[in-house]
Amino acid sequence: MPDEQQLRIDLPKGVTVSTSAIQAASSVPDKEVIPNPEGPWIFSGGRTPGKSVEQLMFLKYKRVLWFATSNEMRDERLKQHAKWLIQQGENRVVRESCAFCEKPAQVFYAEGGSSGYAIVPKQVACEACLRAKQFWEAESGDLKFPVLLDNRFSSEECRRGIVEVFKSVFEIRGNITIKAAFDFFCRED
Ligand SMILES: [Zn+2]
Repeated sequence: MPDEQQLRIDLPKGVTVSTSAIQAASSVPDKEVIPNPEGPWIFSGGRTPGKSVEQLMFLKYKRVLWFATSNEMRDERLKQHAKWLIQQGENRVVRESCAFCEKPAQVFYAEGGSSGYAIVPKQVACEACLRAKQFWEAESGDLKFPVLLDNRFSSEECRRGIVEVFKSVFEIRGNITIKAAFDFFCRED
């Protein structure tokens, strides 16, 4: 992994996001069409033996981004596979409505967040309702995979909470097995 220099940028409540993650996220090409791979990519060794790169989208999104973008990534097939995953992650369709209106949900919001409280997602909403309801106390995040890079949500408890929200809004039933994760990213959304 490259050095992850921390930099304060203009985000609410002293949020920090690693600059390398932001640069990597914005450098993923969005016009390149990568065909679906034939099957999941399962690691036999390394840091996560027995896990698939599809599962890492939920467990270690930053690592998948690194596979997709790092110049140090030597395995071109894994690089392409990871690029495909990042791209598919971006175009998954939210199938759940806002808690307050009929529009598709766009964000989750989480209560708490003052020091000592874990930020755990509570509810999903559209951006208009989030603004209109004026949840001053709420932290909110997009229903998109890169939200997993946000340092506000970096605790393990919060990551699990976001994954539960993703399972709900993207209609992923049961555990995120190798097959379930692969099928989810292959799905025509
Ligand atoms: Zn709404």
